[in-house]
Amino acid sequence: MKGFTTKIVHNDRQHTIEHGATHKPIHTSVAFGYADARDLAGVFQGTQPGYTYGRQVNPTVDALEDKVTVMEGGLKSICFGTGMAAIGTTIFALLRPGDHVVCSAFLFGNTNSLMNSFDTQGVDVTFVDATQAQAVADAIVPATKLVFVETIANPRTQVADLQGIGKLCAEHNLVYVVDNTMTSPYLFRSKTVGASLAINSLTKYIGGHGNALGGTVTELGNYDWRSFPNIYDTYQKGDAQLWGITQIRKKGLRDFGAALSPEAAHHIAIGAETLALRMARQCDNAACIAEFLDEHANVQKVFYPGLKDHAEHARAVQLFGSGGAILSFELDPDIDIWRYLNRFNVIINSTNLGDNRTLAIPVAHTIYFEMGAERRKTMGIADSLIRLSVGIEDVEDLIEDLAAAFD
Ligand SMILES: *Cc1c(COP(=O)(O)O)cnc(C)c1O
Repeated sequence: MKGFTTKIVHNDRQHTIEHGATHKPIHTSVAFGYADARDLAGVFQGTQPGYTYGRQVNPTVDALEDKVTVMEGGLKSICFGTGMAAIGTTIFALLRPGDHVVCSAFLFGNTNSLMNSFDTQGVDVTFVDATQAQAVADAIVPATKLVFVETIANPRTQVADLQGIGKLCAEHNLVYVVDNTMTSPYLFRSKTVGASLAINSLTKYIGGHGNALGGTVTELGNYDWRSFPNIYDTYQKGDAQLWGITQIRKKGLRDFGAALSPEAAHHIAIGAETLALRMARQCDNAACIAEFLDEHANVQKVFYPGLKDHAEHARAVQLFGSGGAILSFELDPDIDIWRYLNRFNVIINSTNLGDNRTLAIPVAHTIYFEMGAERRKTMGIADSLIRLSVGIEDVEDLIEDLAAAFD
């Protein structure tokens, strides 16, 4: 089995499944019983495989973790209740007061807010323009432990210099965390640029149907955790490549408790089966829509890495083979953004992205509102900026909707 979709669709069957089921059933049991109590002790002590308690492990969640690991080409994954829980828990489990993080300035809004919270908890955070590896290099100080970037930034679609930053992190022995949510493992494997850990919000493309929240972190095997000073003695045993992810599972998932529910894991696993099909269509649709908007007289600017005049177009094509399925555009100043948005018949005015349905959102007034006008200005977020998360609908219907709203 070599193909991306073949592997995902058949992954559950690589292990024994109850009653010959073709995919992993939903196990709702929180606890797991053992006839011989010594087995229970063995599972707790990690000397034998098995399940203890639902906050830490669950067979349905396990199956999804395996699937994400296969998608990312990594060693091991941990699922969380949301993408934010995956990010927050990972940083909480790995860093200590006095540590320093270099972080992309073009970030998902809540991640930006979270990083600012860490900044008040003793972890210093420097935000830089991650489209330039040099900006990351300039921000590195002796206390720097970790670099955090996204692949394609939301909403202005800047593409980070993922390869250049990977090289830097290797040189400086830094943990390199890539949030792959906007591209998903179908378009991009963080492992190929030397990332240590890949984060995915499962809520977005991997789940795809807007019916379950989830997040994940995957160990990619590129980092030597023996040189990371924050690993507790207890977790410095066994395969050193897994020390980091083990600490995230114990100190993060177990102690912080943001576990993914088995029902949500099931929804996401079913969604993941069609990730490649959906994303290919969504990227094609987005490319058509970007061209249409780019030529439209009432649109001032379109931000989409698939367009030739996008600053990181060549990088996007090289790394992702596509411009992705998110784009944003600025309306002409004389067009009322509310009147425009309110005329859609197919497109939904809604947050979220990576859904099968096309979603539009006026970003300055919603997801980037709390940030304030000043920071929005530095991020290039105009009041007339609309983000489109392009869905799987027939593209003619989407273009007709966007065109009719201008008339
Ligand atoms: C949505 C998103 C998240 C957070 O994921 P949730 O599942 O909503 O918590 C993190 N990073 C990026 C890039 C996202 O788009």
